[in-house]
Amino acid sequence: MTAALLDVQNVSVAYGRAEVVHDVSLKVEQGALVTVIGANGAGKTTLLNAIMGLLKARGRIGFRGEDVSSVMLESRVKAGLCLVPERRELFADMAVEDNLLLGGFRRSRAERKTTIEEIYSRLPRLKERRVQLAGTLSGGERQMLAMGRALMARPTLLMLDEPSLGLAPRIVRDVFHILTDLRTTGVSILLVEQNARAALEVADYAYVMELGAITKQGSPADIAQDPRLVESYLGLG
Ligand code: ATP
Repeated sequence: MTAALLDVQNVSVAYGRAEVVHDVSLKVEQGALVTVIGANGAGKTTLLNAIMGLLKARGRIGFRGEDVSSVMLESRVKAGLCLVPERRELFADMAVEDNLLLGGFRRSRAERKTTIEEIYSRLPRLKERRVQLAGTLSGGERQMLAMGRALMARPTLLMLDEPSLGLAPRIVRDVFHILTDLRTTGVSILLVEQNARAALEVADYAYVMELGAITKQGSPADIAQDPRLVESYLGLG
C-alpha cells in the first residue's frame, strides 16, 4: 500500500498551556478532496496552521512519505504544501495580476508566465480583472484571487480555510465548482469548512471536528445522514 499524500498522526496543538487540538489523525490521499467540517472554534484553523508549519505541534505530520513535523514553513512550501488562509490576505493596493505574480515568486519568469495563463483559463474572471486593484474585488473574486495566487506556487496539496466565508450561496457554489475542477488537474485538496452542506457536496471523504478532536469520519453521504450532525451542522430539512 502506498502512503497517503498527507498523513497526520496524533497531532496536538496548544496556545501556551491551552491545548485546542487534541490527538488528531487524518489522511489525504493523492488526488483526493478531503474536508474537515466543524463549528466555530472547533480548532480547524489551528490544525491547518500546524500542518503548514505556522504553529508548533506534537505528533507526526507526514507529507509525500517524509516526516515534515520538524521541518520549517519555507521547506514545507517547497515540498508542495500551500495554505489559503481564511482572511485571504491579498495585497489590496496591488493589481490582480501583481498579486498572482507574487504567489509565484519562487518560479522562473517562464514558469510564471505559463502558470498565470493556466490560471486565467480556469478563472477567466481574474483575467478580465487583471489590472483591477485587489482591494476593489467582490468577496467571491477575492477568494478566487487567493486561490489563484496559491496555485501560482504549483502546490501538491492545496489547503483552504473556509473559502465560503462571507460569500452568498451562489458564489459559494462557483468557488466550490472551481475546487472540483482543480482536482481534475491532479492537485489534492484539504478543505476546512463551517459550511458543511457545501463541503460535503464536493468532498470524497470527510472528517468532523468538535472541540479540538475528530469525532467522526467517513464518506460525505454517511456523514450527511448522521442525525446528530444533520441537526448540528446541516440544519433541519
Ligand atoms: P473558526 O471557524 O471560528 O475559525 P476554528 O475551528 O478554525 O474556528 P480555531 O480558530 O482553530 O477554530 O480556534 C480553536 C480554539 O483556539 C478557539 O477556542 C480559539 O479561541 C483558540 N485560539 C485560536 N487562536 C488562538 C491564539 N492565538 N491564542 C489563544 N487561543 C487561540
